[in-house]
Amino acid sequence: MSYQVLARKWRPKNFEQVVGQEAVKQALVNGLDNDRVHHAFLLTGTRGVGKTTLARILAKSLNCETGVTSTPCGECGSCVDVDEGRFVDMIEIDAASKTGVDDIRELIENAQYSPSRGRFKVYIIDEVHMLSRNAFNGLLKTLEEPPPHVKFVLATTDADKIPVTILSRCLRFNLRRLLPEQIGGYLEQLLSSEGIEAEASAIERIARAADGSMRDGLSLLDQAIAYGGGKLQDAEVAQMLGSVDHAHLAALIDAVVAEDGDRLLEIVGELSAQARDLEAVLMGMAEVLHRICLLHCAPAYRDPERSDWESISQLAERVSAEDAQLFYQIAVQGARDIGLAPDPRTGLEMALLRMLAFRPASAASGPVPVPGKAEKPVRQVPAGRSTPSSQSAEPPSKGQVEPASAAPTSTSRAKPTKAPTLSMEGDDWHGLLERLDLTGPVRELARNIELESRAGEQWRFVIPETVSHYGSKNLVQKLETALSSQLGQTVNLVLSTSAQQVRTPAAVTEDARGKAVSEAERAIEQDPTVRSLKETMGAIVVEDSVQPLQ
Ligand SMILES: [Zn+2]
Repeated sequence: MSYQVLARKWRPKNFEQVVGQEAVKQALVNGLDNDRVHHAFLLTGTRGVGKTTLARILAKSLNCETGVTSTPCGECGSCVDVDEGRFVDMIEIDAASKTGVDDIRELIENAQYSPSRGRFKVYIIDEVHMLSRNAFNGLLKTLEEPPPHVKFVLATTDADKIPVTILSRCLRFNLRRLLPEQIGGYLEQLLSSEGIEAEASAIERIARAADGSMRDGLSLLDQAIAYGGGKLQDAEVAQMLGSVDHAHLAALIDAVVAEDGDRLLEIVGELSAQARDLEAVLMGMAEVLHRICLLHCAPAYRDPERSDWESISQLAERVSAEDAQLFYQIAVQGARDIGLAPDPRTGLEMALLRMLAFRPASAASGPVPVPGKAEKPVRQVPAGRSTPSSQSAEPPSKGQVEPASAAPTSTSRAKPTKAPTLSMEGDDWHGLLERLDLTGPVRELARNIELESRAGEQWRFVIPETVSHYGSKNLVQKLETALSSQLGQTVNLVLSTSAQQVRTPAAVTEDARGKAVSEAERAIEQDPTVRSLKETMGAIVVEDSVQPLQ
């Protein structure tokens, strides 16, 4: 069974076979049965829920050689040609690729002529929101005085971008995402008709992964059958769905954290060469980052629907909660904007590079004045969001900064010069920390522990229970290594958890700056750079994200 065979073969051929979408099916069937089919439909909904499938069935119903019917025969020349996508009076336009006014002018001119073979010309305009303003005007003229032999089916994933003048002339239906059981039921039926052996749990897994889209469900099923050599076994499906993709996503996140631009582009190259859905890469990253944030917030959390928490938890040790928040925002925005990029690869690359550019300069030191506000120290943006805080002990909704507020600092990423030799004065851990060159999660660990005692090589620290996730073996080792090398002596860390309040550097800083927050927020709101970012890039300052300088 070759790839894509099932998806094509099992594309619904009549209204009855279409899963879900009862309202629009009913409206179309009634219109056809009463010979009163509206001249323009607008079908909205995410990809793969049946928009163009319904449009094609409508084209077939209107042009079946047995007469206009809600149950086209499927056998006459017209029905067969529609099914094969070569019916001359069914005109399919992908607005995402044809936004020129010329194409639409051509469409309008042709609409005036009678159909050449059937009773009706059916125009199916997919992703109609991508039409240019001129193209919309052209379409509007035809919709205002539609020739009697013309039907329009406009399909979109983004109805908000369609002019109200067009909307008002269409019968509009919102198509729902399909439930996993709807998709699963259809796949099960398909598999038994095809005589393909399948484990129920494997079907469920695919139905869930399809995420509301029958098209995705069918193409995943095709891949899974090919992968399993003609059978559908749960273990194999799990491997197919998870392993490759997760490995790539984890590698991308690791490369961002390591600020390794070369590696990032290398992975994008691989994904692109494998013809992967690059928008799905960004959404996949967002999903992983979301789960990283969940773990930072609630280390014991495990959603039973997922089995790969172990690998997410390993990633969480390398990605701080605040980085995960920032990357999440950029990933989601990048996915949203990918349709506007010159091509998907450019969109993906720009989103990833933005993660690098806006990542807080973890080791940056010293304040960076907000332009025009330099005379008042408190009205400044922190140099990177690495300035100590205890935000990592809070839920991830706090402390995040979007590009708007991070941008002013992105030009000041200078890392402090590493002091050749350091030593601790007394037992002043806070003082030493300020002089240590630490970045990322290791620095977060260092900020969230307090020195209890030290004897020779052994340094004993306390870590508050609330941030105990920083005390992972991996991070503690890294901190040990950093301390040993920067102090020029062997340091062994012993960490114990405390349910009590601990005056860690993070906690101290948080107390000190509490008062200044509101004033800093006001300053950020008034800042010209931030304002211009808001206006030109649609950036927003995330609530609770602004931090004053210490
Ligand atoms: Zn027919």
